[in-house]
Amino acid sequence: MDNERDSQNVEDRRGQAGGGGFSRGRGLAGGGLGMVAVVVVALFLGVDPGTLIQALDGGPAPTQSSGPAPDTASDADARFVSRVLASTEDVWTAEFRRTGKQYEPPRLILFTGATQSGCGPAQAAMGPFYCPNDRRVYIDMAFFREMERRLGAPGDFARAYVIAHEVGHHVQNLLGVLPRAQQAQQRAGGGAAANAISVRVELMADCLAGFWARRADEMRRILDAGDIDEGINAAAAVGDDRLQGSGAHQERFTHGTSAQRTQWFRTGLQANAVEGCDTFKQ
Ligand SMILES: [Zn+2]
Repeated sequence: MDNERDSQNVEDRRGQAGGGGFSRGRGLAGGGLGMVAVVVVALFLGVDPGTLIQALDGGPAPTQSSGPAPDTASDADARFVSRVLASTEDVWTAEFRRTGKQYEPPRLILFTGATQSGCGPAQAAMGPFYCPNDRRVYIDMAFFREMERRLGAPGDFARAYVIAHEVGHHVQNLLGVLPRAQQAQQRAGGGAAANAISVRVELMADCLAGFWARRADEMRRILDAGDIDEGINAAAAVGDDRLQGSGAHQERFTHGTSAQRTQWFRTGLQANAVEGCDTFKQ
């Protein structure tokens, strides 16, 4: 991503006292609020709150979520995130323009440990997520190190895939897919039916990440040898079956299996238009 410009839409909150309620002594209150937020986001995404704490959107939480998490992410890491975000801005601006629409880019919040979001307090334990209320992507970069160490998904492009997936949720929001999915989930009244809708939303975001990768490469040759494999490996690493292990239950899946996630990422790589990513048609 060396040739890429930096995005103007990154807000760096790393090193700030996160969330306000998570320091020692006020930990209980903070934790309580955190639980409320988890349920709110969980209902929205149709995720079982029990599993959400481990994996909101991409995998098990960073382990050092309590206490002052030392932020070892270098500026190089932050610049990489900024450049991937800039690339998504270029790709989606062009794609929206092609269909007569205007793309409004999301903001991306880098934080350490905890921060506030329009969906309630954000904690590193939730993993990267998109909040439709404030149209922001939230990332604690400890998650990237966790992806590498615990999920076995190393590499720059694995990180780019995560960012592009979250931006994919923003694209879904702009296209009206997220609000429609939310309504459908409410009608479904939770449970397996709502989870099945969540799976379609998530697989579409994987597909949109693939779509971004191909378009970004056409624009500026961002892909190196092995990058696509890194993305596919990352998509597989965060499959519900992989994360839930031997106790995996399909009706509890909210993001799709490893096979589904890699399949939709590939579909996005080959899609000529966003319509090719319509997981609700299938
Ligand atoms: Zn997602």
